[in-house]
Amino acid sequence: MMNLADKLTSPVFQTMSDVADRLGLETYVVGGYVRDLLLRRPCKDIDFVCVGSGINLAEAAAKALNPKINVNVFKNFGTAQFRYEDLDLEFVGARKESYQRDSRKPIVEEGTLQDDQNRRDFTINALAISLNKKTFGELIDPFNGIADMDTGVIRTPLDPDITFSDDPLRMMRAIRFATQLNFYIEPETLASIARNKDRISIISQERITTELNKIILAKKPSIGFRLLEETGLLAIILPEMQKLKGVQTVDDKSHKDNFYHTLQVLDNITFSTNDLWLRWAAILHDIAKPPTKRFEPGIGWTFHGHEVLGSKWVPRIFRNLKLPTGGEMKFVQKMVYLHLRPIALTKEEITDSALRRLLFEAGDDIDSLMKLCEADITSKNKAKVNRYLQRFEMVRQKLKDVEERDSIRNFQPPVSGELIMQVFNITPSREVGIIKDKIKEAILEGDIKNDYQQAYDMMLRLGAELGLKPVS
Ligand code: ATP
Ligand code: MG
Repeated sequence: MMNLADKLTSPVFQTMSDVADRLGLETYVVGGYVRDLLLRRPCKDIDFVCVGSGINLAEAAAKALNPKINVNVFKNFGTAQFRYEDLDLEFVGARKESYQRDSRKPIVEEGTLQDDQNRRDFTINALAISLNKKTFGELIDPFNGIADMDTGVIRTPLDPDITFSDDPLRMMRAIRFATQLNFYIEPETLASIARNKDRISIISQERITTELNKIILAKKPSIGFRLLEETGLLAIILPEMQKLKGVQTVDDKSHKDNFYHTLQVLDNITFSTNDLWLRWAAILHDIAKPPTKRFEPGIGWTFHGHEVLGSKWVPRIFRNLKLPTGGEMKFVQKMVYLHLRPIALTKEEITDSALRRLLFEAGDDIDSLMKLCEADITSKNKAKVNRYLQRFEMVRQKLKDVEERDSIRNFQPPVSGELIMQVFNITPSREVGIIKDKIKEAILEGDIKNDYQQAYDMMLRLGAELGLKPVS
């Protein structure tokens, strides 16, 4: 039997060992912490399971670690939790679960360690390490999770059809772990997800989305999306993305498969950002390509207006997924709306006014937009990609130059509406809007500088044209 005593370096385990023996409770550290310990992944959540009352164990442990600790007790679930230093410690009594068909709420009874391991989702998540003195550090691995960890396999401990049907969230978790750990899902387990995909409907959207976001935040999110697509889950949880898949050919001309293109963009952007929302922008940037697709003879495939329609879809998609609908959503909408603009710049002569307009519209999100746009440059033809990237670098440089000169990023008109009203002694009116707008246009066009005096002079000129007289 493998002994991992030398890996349990945190002093918490010594204390737990004392407390467990004093209470006479068989006690183990179990689940994710053991998995991550063996995979050398950092982990701050520790789950303890004992044969008996998890709540009693938690209260005794807290007292021994630091009498000031506040224990959160969830009587209904028979669990307890507290924080200790930077650790999140959770306690539960070993249990046996049985499920009814239309709910993921199990009937729970007390059980043995083996019962408790049986109810866990994957072999790599079912490992336990004993904490009692006599057996301290011994690994209990009834499903050969160690072997699956070595070969990188996600597999359910029991019949996958039962495991997934009992709690369909586990299907999302399987794909999430495969993505985070770069493991593959054992073929029987994978086939079972495809068979049970429709059961996902009994899971709350919030829980599904939590797993989806973990997939998106992984190093290579495409792994997860390919699995979601393959198993049929994607068509259920994000049908708009499923519809990106496929290639159509007319007159020997094919467009690219926008599903795989989107995955490439998503993987690309993981190199330049950890930001969940920019990653969501990558997922959604071409989302409205299917309904805007046209074949135009002599031109080929076009997707006119997909950025506009796509940005209009974002709120509905966010609502369906129960993603936040505040600033995060506005940001994604803006990214989708503007995603063609930087690359369009490279195709023509790069004028300062075009650069200023882009800066004005993107504001502080210009750097994110540039990252998205760069990630969007994909092609099988390496030379083509490199040519684009070079031109793109030029746009970046010129943006910087314009920014330094004109500071358009957080553009505030140098003369305000208030000032215009004061100078001409008028009330809020059409004229105020016209003057403000023309000044903004002139600055973006480069006809005048972004400064107070030039804007003031222009205001007087425009006022005169409109028949307004400044009060002296
Ligand atoms: P992470 O903390 O990265 O999400 P984890 O494996 O620690 O991964 P938790 O949700 O913290 O996941 O759960 C802790 C342990 O509880 C898991 O390792 C697993 O043994 C068990 N578990 C969690 N959710 C389920 C589930 N839906 N079905 C069966 N067992 C589960
Ligand atoms: Mg955990």
